[in-house]
Amino acid sequence: MKIGTKAIHAGVEPEPVTGAIMTPIFQTSTYVQKGPGEHTGYEYARTQNPTRDALQASLAALENGKFGLCFGSGMAATDAVMKTLLPGDEVIASNDLYGGTYRLFTKVFERYGMKFHFVDMQDVENVRAAMTDKTRMIWVETPTNPMLNIVDIEAVCGLAKGAGVKVCVDNTFASPYLQSPLDLGADLVLHSATKYLGGHSDTVLGGVVTSDAALHEQLAFHQNASGAVPGPQDCFLILRGIKTLHVRMQRHCENGRAIAEYLKSHDRVGEVHWPGFESHPNHDVAKRQMRDFGGMLSFSLKDDTMEAAAELMKSTKLFALAESLGGVESLIGHPATMTHASIPLAERKKTGVVDSLIRVSVGIEDVGDLIGDLKMALANSAKYATVR
Ligand SMILES: *Cc1c(COP(=O)(O)O)cnc(C)c1O
Repeated sequence: MKIGTKAIHAGVEPEPVTGAIMTPIFQTSTYVQKGPGEHTGYEYARTQNPTRDALQASLAALENGKFGLCFGSGMAATDAVMKTLLPGDEVIASNDLYGGTYRLFTKVFERYGMKFHFVDMQDVENVRAAMTDKTRMIWVETPTNPMLNIVDIEAVCGLAKGAGVKVCVDNTFASPYLQSPLDLGADLVLHSATKYLGGHSDTVLGGVVTSDAALHEQLAFHQNASGAVPGPQDCFLILRGIKTLHVRMQRHCENGRAIAEYLKSHDRVGEVHWPGFESHPNHDVAKRQMRDFGGMLSFSLKDDTMEAAAELMKSTKLFALAESLGGVESLIGHPATMTHASIPLAERKKTGVVDSLIRVSVGIEDVGDLIGDLKMALANSAKYATVR
């Protein structure tokens, strides 16, 4: 099955009692047993729920994996993956990680005696250099936020294979439509389904997929033991979102390309970070491991001031100023004051997060309207231009 068919059919069967074609929301905490220990496979809803089961099977199929597990959020899924490790274990992670992941690693798991090395994974040699005999996991995020850097998943997995190290790829930015990390050698794929999988900015949920039965068993144990499970209504909403994943992603990619090209042609725009440009430093890797280049991009202004960026972001009417990404509606954000505010200025600038850097999650509205909105906002902010 191709992804468009899987998105609609994988994991879902008509409900056996009534024939309901859509998986019902099984809003129940427990299931009646015929006799002691004589149950249908469903005993208690933290452990099993049919709506969640359907979503888990759908996610596994989308990622070409054997097993899927869902959690109350992307962070809860990450938490479960980290609990498969032990004190003393070391993890190598991308240095421009999602902020919540960085916080969970450094503020929670470091307290339990785990060690994290953060490296620039655009150069795989940096990963090799950070490996020790205690390395147990490599945590990859690609494309990265907000610079849209690309990490060569296959090359990283090549380093890990012989060394008994597991590779987990956070595939949130790409979605299964653009990238299949398990096919490139990864052991685990993680999702914040809150973003593209759900696609409508109305649900928080996370998922993990693997084909490794032993890893799956450990994760399923933690899913039940720690209990960070999503409710059935949230599972239903993500399942519903997934049915249009391929159609939405196609439009996100088309609109993303058109907006990247428009911005590049604008005389007040500095750099445009989008992996589809041949000039992008990791374009060749992106072309090899991704099916298209997505709807996430960021750009700076030539007059690199907070004021110009702020005026631009306050001026847009269609691009809403908000955190998050991956919904049908376009969002605009300012990493320097929003997602990356806690990072010192010098550090921030080193990784390219300059004062005027603006991140855009391109939605699936009419692209002419979106470009018109940006054109107007760029004109509005020109009064702050220092470079003319
Ligand atoms: C949003 C996000 C997360 C966290 O997911 P939540 O569902 O918000 O907990 C993790 N990784 C990436 C790349 C994200 O964008």
